[in-house]
Amino acid sequence: MLPVITLIGRPNVGKSTLFNRLTRTRDALVADFPGLTRDRQYGIGRVGPGPYIIVDTGGIGTAAEGVEALMERQVQRAIEEADHLFFLVDAKDGATPEDIEIVQRLRRLGKPITLVVNKSDTTDPNLAVADFHQLGLGDPWAVSATQGLGVNKLIDHVFAQLPIDTDETDETAEDDQGIRVALVGRPNAGKSTLINRLLGEERLVTFDSPGTTRDSIFIPFERLGRRYTLIDTAGLRRRARVQDAIEKFSVIKTLQAIEESNVVILVIDAHEGVGEQDATLAGHIIESGRALVVAINKWDGLQPDEREHVREQFSRKLAFLDFAKLHLVSALHGSGVGLLLDEVDKAYANATRNLSTPELTRLLESAVQEHQPPLVRGRRIKLRYAHQGGRNPPIIVIHGNQTEDVPETYRRYLINRFRKALNLLGTPLRLEFKSGS
Ligand code: GDP
Ligand code: GDP
Repeated sequence: MLPVITLIGRPNVGKSTLFNRLTRTRDALVADFPGLTRDRQYGIGRVGPGPYIIVDTGGIGTAAEGVEALMERQVQRAIEEADHLFFLVDAKDGATPEDIEIVQRLRRLGKPITLVVNKSDTTDPNLAVADFHQLGLGDPWAVSATQGLGVNKLIDHVFAQLPIDTDETDETAEDDQGIRVALVGRPNAGKSTLINRLLGEERLVTFDSPGTTRDSIFIPFERLGRRYTLIDTAGLRRRARVQDAIEKFSVIKTLQAIEESNVVILVIDAHEGVGEQDATLAGHIIESGRALVVAINKWDGLQPDEREHVREQFSRKLAFLDFAKLHLVSALHGSGVGLLLDEVDKAYANATRNLSTPELTRLLESAVQEHQPPLVRGRRIKLRYAHQGGRNPPIIVIHGNQTEDVPETYRRYLINRFRKALNLLGTPLRLEFKSGS
């Protein structure tokens, strides 16, 4: 499971700037999906040895609400689920009374804390950290989030302390766990019901053993001679405590499950319609590059006009998921559930397909012929050949000249061409450009 680093500190110390710096490698990708907005609170950090989950608690407390607000429940939860806390302070301000108060509270939590002195570009770095020794959090780390100074070293330092298994599995390999399928969705969307269905009744209960709130459950099963592992984000809970639905929902657990999976089933509650949380989850799935099947659940008992409404909402609010297959199911009655796994198989097959260099190059040539890349500074961008650079998600690497100038619209044009020609349903597709040779 990905380690979790949570950013804490007064407003304006630079938490969201640091968050953006640690997660911003994904920006180009988001541009490939018009309409997609990023989750500004939870992200996958890839700067440094990564990946890791990074949580910005900054959206919650504001200056007006003071320190109390910082400690409210959501923050509390994010802190509980953290492996490591970054306590950010502002080099210009020195240690303020509020900083001291927050530290006192943080210390009681017994979590590993690193004191991060941000904005160290604004003063002499040695002076910048001197005042913060009084916080008693050990040696302060001077960084500049805006300029990226000290950030890599900071992450290296944390990773050296994290209890993580370095036994990285090959994400594309279908090992003895089979296809790893994460079921994600809002609380009460029907994930547990769907898992019970998929497994053929009540098997989940046997996994209902005590554990921390952090655990997702890995449930191996077999179907038609094929192995799967379901990753259940609804997690450890008893039927009797269903009213805790909101409580049991954890963005962190969901992100971890997505990262662990090959294919994600996004479960959407047809009775509730498509909400903001669905869009946020969809954004996380796209950023992860995992294959995707959308299950619109609770399809039973809906009138035809209601059904039409849900479909319309989906294609409007989640337009950027047009590569994924929509699947209508009723977890409660079982209708459509068997077919769901067929869709998972297909999405996985597409996500892990081998794409030959001659085929990709031919497709590139025909796309370029039909619609030339633009002139930049009087020279035409040249795209020469393409080959596969990865699977799950498929990555197509395009070689040429001046490729750093390829405009977003042209990138999108190529993605659509490749997607259609290769019939890559159910998986995001990534393009990478290389200049020279
Ligand atoms: P948050 O409220 O803790 O999330 O703080 P923000 O990330 O919104 O940053 C508050 C202000 O500090 C913004 O104007 C940032 O541009 C600025 N800032 C953040 N990091 C740095 C830094 O490393 N150096 C300087 N000089 N300014 C920074
Ligand atoms: P989770 O929080 O996503 O795991 O959701 P649950 O599986 O616990 O389901 C939440 C509620 O929705 C329960 O009362 C289920 O009985 C109900 N539910 C789940 N699937 C369906 C369905 O297909 N149709 C209807 N009508 N209700 C469902």
